Amino acid sequence: MTINTAFSPPVGSRESGAPLEAAHQQLAEAIELLGYSAGQHAMLRAPRREMTVSIPLRRDTGDIELLTGHRVQHNISRGPAKGGIRYHRGVDLDEIRALAMWMTWKCALIDVPYGGAKGGIRIDTALYSQPELERLTRRFTSEIMPILGPEKDIPAPDIGTDEQTMAWIMDTYSVNKGHTIPAVVTGKPISIGGSLGRASATSRGVVHCALAAMEDQKIRASGSSASVQGFGKVGAGAAEFLSDAGLKIQYVSDQHGALHASGGIDVQLLDDHVKLTGSVVGFRGAEPVPHDAVLEADVDVLVPAALEGVITADNAADIKARIVVEGANGPTTVLADQMLADKGTLVVPDILANAGGVLVSYFEWVQGNQAYWWTEDEVEEKLAARMTSAYREVSAYAKDRRLSMRSAATALAVHRVAEAHTLRGLYP
Ligand code: NAD
Repeated sequence: MTINTAFSPPVGSRESGAPLEAAHQQLAEAIELLGYSAGQHAMLRAPRREMTVSIPLRRDTGDIELLTGHRVQHNISRGPAKGGIRYHRGVDLDEIRALAMWMTWKCALIDVPYGGAKGGIRIDTALYSQPELERLTRRFTSEIMPILGPEKDIPAPDIGTDEQTMAWIMDTYSVNKGHTIPAVVTGKPISIGGSLGRASATSRGVVHCALAAMEDQKIRASGSSASVQGFGKVGAGAAEFLSDAGLKIQYVSDQHGALHASGGIDVQLLDDHVKLTGSVVGFRGAEPVPHDAVLEADVDVLVPAALEGVITADNAADIKARIVVEGANGPTTVLADQMLADKGTLVVPDILANAGGVLVSYFEWVQGNQAYWWTEDEVEEKLAARMTSAYREVSAYAKDRRLSMRSAATALAVHRVAEAHTLRGLYP
């Protein structure tokens, strides 16, 4: 199993714009646009339920260490809460709250019957063995079990967690319930109920959005150029599928280094190199460049697919890409977003661009609930159709109201969640 331990800076710490602040500002803007009341705003802003737990972990040495875990369910009006579990040393409750809120909007925007959630443990996974991570995951699962379940809250992988982590969560939950319940998590290994096409779904969704945005801007895919920050679960696939669509991948980076090749990087060879060495550094098919070169590249499409808060007021003026497709969650700060909009850069926002993962998570949950498995082609066809139609929906809404794609996406999503509140009414 590969548990990725990427990342150095504390996530979202740049500018004043920590993720929760950005999420709150985006919501406030949507509320104003939609003309909703202060009461509606308050309901949409506050998480529905939060659970913080202590996780006692027996280290391999026999020592006991106490860690802290969180699960935040931001909204459950459209269905069970849905969202990833993150293991990273930068995790804090506010970051999880922001990510949970973005999940609510993402699920509403892509129109899957879920609310939004997120969970996480502040931990540097590089310092723990596999058996320690397994014990940690099982204890965390058992602590938050009262609020988990296929009809209540369905976790998925995020930074620092993967399909093995999901298998441990599923097993712990199932053993405690007395029977196997695959639909309690998504992003599982195929052999225990995972969906074909889930592993590549986020990257494919990013590329469907990139291609739709290029069509919007009348840029031909064939021969165009791209730059991809991050070569992990999202970035590596995005580079591969952009390359398959005919774009030259001129820049790629991971946390260890950055590469450039004006004629395009052979993504398959780079992937083999990364599998062998653990990083893009030392790849012979490209020249090393400073990290900044990747974000500031003069390319048609930029895909930030690594960290939150990497495009800031400090570097937004230097972003030359005509289209930015947000593979990562929250890579652009609020100020930078405004600066990019002012200079006419088309930004496809995270809640749309990286929604392919949760869409196929939904397909996995549907398959698990029905115990009926779809072919990879079926999954990919449905993914392509839904991502492209969601892009067009957001784009039309944005053009009609002269909004940025982010404002349009957020307003559309917030409207759907508010509509669910209104139709269900307030109990009692
Ligand atoms: P990952 O851990 O698999 O990959 C992260 C990559 O970013 C690694 O290659 C790492 O080396 C690189 N990186 C870290 N710091 C960097 C830096 N300073 N400069 C350049 N590269 C750097 O994580 P992932 O699952 O690919 O997630 C990436 C982002 O996408 C996160 O924001 C995550 O929340 C978001 N996301 C992921 C999914 C999914 O299905 N995996 C779905 C939606 C959103």
